[in-house]
Amino acid sequence: MDLFEHQAKELFAEYGVPVPTGKVAHTPQEARTHAEELFAAGSKKVVVKAQVKTGGRGKAGGVKLADNADEAQALAEQILGMDIKGHTVHKVLVEEGSAIAQEFYFSFLLDRANRTFLSICTVEGGVEIEDVPHDKLALTEISPLTGVDKARAREIAEAGRLPAAALDGATEIIERLWAVFTDEDATLVEVNPLILTASGEVKALDGKVSLDDNASFRQEHDKLEDKASADPLEAAAKEKDLNYVKLEGSVGIIGNGAGLVMSTLDVVAYAGEEFGGQKPANFLDIGGGASAEVMANGLEIVLSDGAVKSVFVNVFGGITACDAVANGIVSAYKLLSDRGEAVDRPLVVRLDGNNAELGRKILTDAALPGVEQVETMDDAAKRAAELAAAGA
Ligand code: GDP
Ligand code: MN
Repeated sequence: MDLFEHQAKELFAEYGVPVPTGKVAHTPQEARTHAEELFAAGSKKVVVKAQVKTGGRGKAGGVKLADNADEAQALAEQILGMDIKGHTVHKVLVEEGSAIAQEFYFSFLLDRANRTFLSICTVEGGVEIEDVPHDKLALTEISPLTGVDKARAREIAEAGRLPAAALDGATEIIERLWAVFTDEDATLVEVNPLILTASGEVKALDGKVSLDDNASFRQEHDKLEDKASADPLEAAAKEKDLNYVKLEGSVGIIGNGAGLVMSTLDVVAYAGEEFGGQKPANFLDIGGGASAEVMANGLEIVLSDGAVKSVFVNVFGGITACDAVANGIVSAYKLLSDRGEAVDRPLVVRLDGNNAELGRKILTDAALPGVEQVETMDDAAKRAAELAAAGA
């Protein structure tokens, strides 16, 4: 999960990382009130910043400075509702303006390729890190065993060629950001720019944090979730612990195992070309041990997408054998009709692997309306695409 800048900064502040004072506003009027407070407290300027989970807001006109509350309100009016790289701005951060002497770049990240953590530090901040020449970047490998103490933090700042005036402040910030990174189970903590102000302070002027969802069981990150812009179907699926991702097509997909589901998406997209470009409507992995209830929940989510015109259930029996899956489908039909949500669109089922024969027999005997069995994955994908085209 990625955080908004204001959330990243709130987190930084909890860990003692200096950030400018600021508040979130959802309306121009609210932005005005925040700006008035900041000016009253002695700010010379305030900055109005679009809160969207993408970079390059400054370039897109989503970060603007104001000299008074009127201006701040007008800027908020302009920025709220703006589209930045496909993200609509629903809120702005109104912050005390900083007098910037110099901008630097700093980040901690998970370096998957080298199976380690990495820090990147450079005196060339405030621009896209991809645009900084490689020889200007100080890449420092961080051992998860020893982490980052004060001495290490200073080495990083020095390696990034930060000026002497910023070294003490940056060292402290880097050490604290390491605590953010590890204690919060982040995969990225990025500050661009990290600034030295005219009065000699070092501060995080921007913040980008990605949290590792695999660690959510031991964190309290739920409260950071952006429920307002979450897809309603994905949110419903999450409630039911289903691995569901909404896509744009018409063929609902249910499979067991992420790898199988991924390849099912490919096969359906390919087969769909023949039928007017039918595409998969979702990713849904019901996992290895799919019970009838999981199958019912999965079907319910997939079918509550109005764009779905047919469903392809692609199962390779492993630990959970095909007969269990077939029984799951039969019970799911009953469960759903009991819930008043009877399956009303065609279902193409391909069972293979452990106890496939038995599974197929169970489905044949059950003679569920609208359920067809097809033996191979390719043929099943084709049939599901054909049915989706017919139902469109
Ligand atoms: P991004 O473009 O999405 O990365 O947004 P940033 O928060 O990094 O802001 C972009 C740029 O706006 C920064 O690199 C600064 O140059 C400028 N900026 C942001 N806040 C202030 C501020 O308080 N004072 C001044 N003078 N410039 C700012
Ligand atoms: Mn930035």
